[in-house]
Amino acid sequence: MLSIIYLIGSVTFIIGLKMLSHPATARKGNLIAAGGMTLAILGTIFLYENNGEHLHNYGWIFAGLLAGGTIGVLAAKKVKMTAMPEMVSLFNGMGGACAALISVVEFNHMITTPSAGIATAVLPRLSELPGMEHASLGGRLLIILLGLIIGSVSFAGSMIAWGKLNGRIKDFAFKGQHIVNLAILAVSLLAALYLVATIDRQVGVELTIGRSGGLAIRVAGIVKFLFYLILLLSIIYGILFVMPIGGADMPVVISLLNSFTGVAAACGGFLYNNQVMLTGGILVGSAGTILTILMCRAMNRSLKNVLIGSFGGAKAGSAKEQGQYKSIALADAAVVLAYAQKVVIVPGYGLAVAQAQHACHELEKLLEDKGVTVIYAIHPVAGRMPGHMNVLLAEADVPYEKLLEMEQANEALPTTDAVLVLGANDVVNPAAKTDPDSPIYGMPILEVEKARMVIVNKRSMKPGYAGIENDLFFQPKTSMLFGDAKQVLQQLIAEVKQV
Ligand code: NDP
Repeated sequence: MLSIIYLIGSVTFIIGLKMLSHPATARKGNLIAAGGMTLAILGTIFLYENNGEHLHNYGWIFAGLLAGGTIGVLAAKKVKMTAMPEMVSLFNGMGGACAALISVVEFNHMITTPSAGIATAVLPRLSELPGMEHASLGGRLLIILLGLIIGSVSFAGSMIAWGKLNGRIKDFAFKGQHIVNLAILAVSLLAALYLVATIDRQVGVELTIGRSGGLAIRVAGIVKFLFYLILLLSIIYGILFVMPIGGADMPVVISLLNSFTGVAAACGGFLYNNQVMLTGGILVGSAGTILTILMCRAMNRSLKNVLIGSFGGAKAGSAKEQGQYKSIALADAAVVLAYAQKVVIVPGYGLAVAQAQHACHELEKLLEDKGVTVIYAIHPVAGRMPGHMNVLLAEADVPYEKLLEMEQANEALPTTDAVLVLGANDVVNPAAKTDPDSPIYGMPILEVEKARMVIVNKRSMKPGYAGIENDLFFQPKTSMLFGDAKQVLQQLIAEVKQV
């Protein structure tokens, strides 16, 4: 029965993940996977059996479920769309901590000696016992240590990423940090390898009699010391690994750490011989890895460059003199848009900050009523998380077929009369094509300068997340329409109605 439940759970994860890849089915996919997870959890609680014993401490289990469930629901309901990466990071960190704790608990299970009973015989090696010639603790310890290292790196790293995204933690780097990081990682891996290779020799077996008599394992002190040293070093490594990475790259780092958590959870699946935990962990691990690669590709950067490039951090931000820009009045912008045949809207992070998606959709409908063709150009890394603009516009019921991906949008731009850039900056920065010194050089961008006219809405001339100037704002085709995106859109709607 439990195996069938685990199979159903695993299948729902796969279906859910598949459905998440399109905005029209994403919500349902999420619910299906959550339903499978609920089934797997309830199945484990009530049907799991080990040597004829069921789980029994239901009070603790349900109190934990209730506390975690309540916090999760409240946090998810309260969170603002723009703070979503922060929340994902926090939740991911909890997953990593969970996997690391499982390793600590299982390590202690493995080495615990029952207290009652008198040792009557101490054998130097487990394998010297009759019938135990092939017994090896090394394999189990390997899985435990993998879960410990990956889980705690993911936990510590996610906490730092969370602090950076909400501005509580500033970038921090010192000379030679990467070497120190590698040294810490190397020491913990070597200690882990040493433990795995020698555990059978470090462990003696006591034959005990008395009430809980039987075979018990006695472990050399060095084993415990090294285990907790590995835990400490992994936490320090997680902190130092994320500390120097620039703020703009946090979503990529979170996606990478997310895949780590998946692998750590899969280790738990191995330990408990639990198939649904294994499938879930592997799916998270592989989906996170694919997402990390896709995000890097969309920014045309290697993962190595993201991890040690300090992009968007304190170092980025060359402010060079750009010349003059020109502004456009609301009424003039309204005339340009209303008399255009084709308008392309480029949404960016600022649209999400201003929560102007509904006003944006209203303007789009108004222009369409006047016979203008309106489409949206979606850059893969616009906003602050993958699919940010798709989710934002779906919230305002913008039809999916109006959203063009970058390649299609770039084909449509040369025949476009007017482009309305709403709170986007880096994703329309021509420096990505023209300036080899720019930190975003090589990133594919929306080539809005190919349209006949460009209207850019933002609040000031401040740079976007990469911290660099945008030459687009100073080009003759471009006019700036300053103000908060929501207010500007509402005023534009009023003006267009009068045209
Ligand atoms: P940017 O961060 O480049 O620019 C956003 C602009 O919005 C700012 O220049 C800001 O200018 C303006 N803005 C802010 N608030 C408002 C408001 N209330 N009304 C109007 N404008 C506003 O955003 P993009 O979407 O163009 O680019 C995303 C960036 O994030 C890229 O650098 C990308 O690489 C990075 N990134 C994205 C990831 C993703 O998955 N989406 C992942 C990792 C990184 P002002 O202050 O003058 O108003």
